[in-house]
Amino acid sequence: MIFVCNCNKMFYGERKYLVGGVSMNILVINCGSSSLKYQLIDMDNENVLAKGLAERIGIENPRIKHKASGKDEVIIEKPMPDHKVALELVINALVDKEHGCIESMNEINAVGHRVVHGGEKFTESVLITDEVMKGLNDCVDLAPLHNPPNIMGIEACKEIMPNVPMVAVFDTAFHQTMPADSYLYALPYELYEKYGVRRYGFHGTSHKYVSQRTAEILNKDIKDLKIITCHLGNGASIAAIKDGKCLDTSMGFTPLEGLVMGTRVGDMDPAIIPFIMEKEKLNPNEMSNLLNKESGVLGISGVSSDFRDVEDEMAKGNERAKLALYMFNNRVIKYIGAYAAMMNGVDAIVFTAGLGENSAEAREEICKYLTYLGVEIDHELNKVRGKERIISTENSKVKVLIVPTNEELMIARDTKALI
Ligand code: AMP
Repeated sequence: MIFVCNCNKMFYGERKYLVGGVSMNILVINCGSSSLKYQLIDMDNENVLAKGLAERIGIENPRIKHKASGKDEVIIEKPMPDHKVALELVINALVDKEHGCIESMNEINAVGHRVVHGGEKFTESVLITDEVMKGLNDCVDLAPLHNPPNIMGIEACKEIMPNVPMVAVFDTAFHQTMPADSYLYALPYELYEKYGVRRYGFHGTSHKYVSQRTAEILNKDIKDLKIITCHLGNGASIAAIKDGKCLDTSMGFTPLEGLVMGTRVGDMDPAIIPFIMEKEKLNPNEMSNLLNKESGVLGISGVSSDFRDVEDEMAKGNERAKLALYMFNNRVIKYIGAYAAMMNGVDAIVFTAGLGENSAEAREEICKYLTYLGVEIDHELNKVRGKERIISTENSKVKVLIVPTNEELMIARDTKALI
């Protein structure tokens, strides 16, 4: 028997001895331009010790919603001019005697950062070094809205916890196994060479997590499975996963391509862009805003980007709400068909994210059009929200599952593996 002691914990008086391994707490951080989402995970048992969200960083009325396991949620309202101050407040909350879950910052053994875009440079998660920071900055061009706040979060952590190892986990990395015939656009090849114009795909951490979990639930080696993962939330994407590797995914150069989403248009004829810009006298920024923020389910329904509101309106007889949901489902059905064809079959179809996990109606409507593949839903099993389970019948040729996504845990696992 091996006894290993965790020196940090001893130093701060907790005296925790573990058998067979060192205790490890990993802080997972996801920074947006004015937000910082966090979870502290005990990797011995993968339990979440605390989680929360700092909102309105750099603007008026900032606040942190913080909850430690087994304790009440607290709201912390303090000035947060930047991400560094927000992170300091988060750490204060984590070590707080009343609302916290650790005794000192030294009990944070590593930090895992979600980074949206890793370009072609980062095909997997990496330990953050000065060279990696340079690489992250090189990717800013590809994700000018998302990568800068991710980098700000890393820099804030480096200042506050200079000696704690940090790992970057990329939304794009899982999709880097796509072959060139999937990731290239049929544009002049030089545009790919000069500017990296190609499909990258997003939600990679989620697709990776749910596909791995699917193999575990089905008790199969992921290498023997053809899986279609449907991440259906406000942002939505689908991936074709064969042998545990991504073959294709619906999002592209940016998250705009593919499915109809809450406010994003998804696939459309690109010739519409100059046409509308000319007719409506829009500049590139305004056009981009229209495609990203005013389209999709919101644009068609005129009601909301939230599927719950649109489902409610449809139930009241609103025809445009009904059309928006039909268009959304229709696109999902098309992609599933295309991916099943591409993989020459499918063993499992998985639903995840806000709508995929919670809307029995959406799953039912989509699966109704998949009987040709051998999909048979168990209507009773499907009547569930946010629970991990198989929802197809025993006889269904293709297994259909709900797997609630857990990007934070995936980030923590990658971080643990790398440190
Ligand atoms: P996400 O982006 O994964 O957080 O998903 C958010 C979306 O999930 C929201 O637009 C909601 O409309 C949708 N959603 C969450 N719960 C439900 C539900 N019970 N029924 C339908 N849609 C839901």
